[in-house]
Amino acid sequence: MKIVVLIKQVPGTDNVKMNPETGTMVRTGRDNVINPLDENALEAALRIKARHPGTVITAVSMGPPSARKALKEAVALGADNGVLLSAKAFAGSDTIVTARVLAAAVRKLGEADLILCGERATDGETGQTGPMVAEMLDIPLVSYVKHMDVGEKGVLAERIVEDGFELVEVPFPCLINVVKDINEPGFPSLRGKVRARDVDLPAWGPEELGLTAEETGLTGSPTRVVKIFTPKLSRDTQFYKHDGSGKAIGALLRFLGEKEVL
Ligand SMILES: Cc1cc2nc3c(=O)[nH]c(=O)nc-3n(C[C@H](O)[C@H](O)[C@H](O)COP(=O)(O)OP(=O)(O)OC[C@H]3O[C@@H](n4cnc5c(N)ncnc54)[C@H](O)[C@@H]3O)c2cc1C
Repeated sequence: MKIVVLIKQVPGTDNVKMNPETGTMVRTGRDNVINPLDENALEAALRIKARHPGTVITAVSMGPPSARKALKEAVALGADNGVLLSAKAFAGSDTIVTARVLAAAVRKLGEADLILCGERATDGETGQTGPMVAEMLDIPLVSYVKHMDVGEKGVLAERIVEDGFELVEVPFPCLINVVKDINEPGFPSLRGKVRARDVDLPAWGPEELGLTAEETGLTGSPTRVVKIFTPKLSRDTQFYKHDGSGKAIGALLRFLGEKEVL
């Protein structure tokens, strides 16, 4: 079985910085990590491999050259190999272009039975990429999966819905996006770390993927960030000290009346 796991490198902090001029995220930090849900996706792939010997797991990441580190971590965790999708032309890609590039890479890798990804990335958080990749590859998608049984021909997946869960059966090839509850990711082994140190990770750009410059990056992205700003939180706090005269209660009632709370 061939499994592709989509791995995004994200800032390892909640303090995501934005470039106010371009409306894009600043991704030059050194504390970048694998998107936590993508670790769950990789762990799901590793568990499938444990039950289906001969399975090959390929981690794929689109990002700046530093995303190579995330792929190495994936190999240390047990992925067989990885591909970095990186080029200047990819800068400024929105979710459609990200999905286009990822889908082109899956096509180039050829004959993937199963594509696994996280439900969402902790930085962009749109949750659009996985479903878009499935649409572009014209394969079934099962989202919000918290459990799956993988057979020879397809997957029986338990997906979370508002009032419980649904059981969905899909044939290969298909794309599954997973939620945190699906498993507890493992740790890299010593052997994995040694493999990761020596592994050769190819880097593909638009040419290798058969994409034109117009189809990628900011040029190929229909999304326009019109304005980006940090919301200003201000509190209009007033203190009314109780002195037994009733003035404080009167003042408080007046204040709440002015604010139309009462
Ligand atoms: C106009 C515009 C310009 C942008 N410019 C840039 C830019 O210059 N540089 C930049 O890094 N981002 C840029 N972004 C953000 C970028 O488009 C998103 O980060 C990306 O499309 C993924 O969306 P998301 O973070 O919401 O992921 P989600 O859709 O929430 O992620 C779901 C899952 O998809 C997979 N996935 C998502 N992204 C990747 C990836 N890159 N590689 C592998 N798997 C992935 C993971 O498995 C993840 O768990 C830009 C966005 C816009 C709107």
